[in-house]
Amino acid sequence: MILRVTQYGEPILRKVGKPLTEFDADLAQLADDMVDTMYDEDGIGLAAQQVNLALQICVLDVRPPEGAEVPYNYTFDGKQPPLDLIMPMAIINPKVSIIDETQDVYEEGCLSFPGVNGKVTRPIGVRCEFQDTEGNPHILEADGLLGRCVLHEVDHLNGKLFTDRMDKRDLKRMESRIKKIKRGSRDFLKAQK
Ligand code: ZN
Repeated sequence: MILRVTQYGEPILRKVGKPLTEFDADLAQLADDMVDTMYDEDGIGLAAQQVNLALQICVLDVRPPEGAEVPYNYTFDGKQPPLDLIMPMAIINPKVSIIDETQDVYEEGCLSFPGVNGKVTRPIGVRCEFQDTEGNPHILEADGLLGRCVLHEVDHLNGKLFTDRMDKRDLKRMESRIKKIKRGSRDFLKAQK
């Protein structure tokens, strides 16, 4: 099922997600719905707050187009399984640490900010301990686009947005668009009441 994606200005996007404790069929269904929604929106990642839930779950799929080389390094539980075996990936209750502090700049976008993009500086190497939808623990280590995507999504789970970290000049350039999204959210919330 495709869910509605929340937009900048909706308070849910600033809420810290609650850890999940029940690894049941409802959770598996939620992860499936989040993946469907992410694909529908042509995204590479989606966090619970973006489907109006303050929970510690996000999904991602950072596979390159078929035949293309994988543009990052990764290990999953210490091995390097084919990406098709591990993606789409649901990441639940993540604990992130930085394993390579080298800073990297890249132009990011976000499904809660349609039409907004800008340079965001992040460390390059990430280690993420998390659980899957059955509660099994995993360790993902990644750099490049995958590491960045993990950091962007885990930020969402903690109520942080990419505009908080965006290059100040890019943020200025996007200001009117961001304000427009915020006005749209205000109108949407008003209509809900
Ligand atoms: Zn986002």
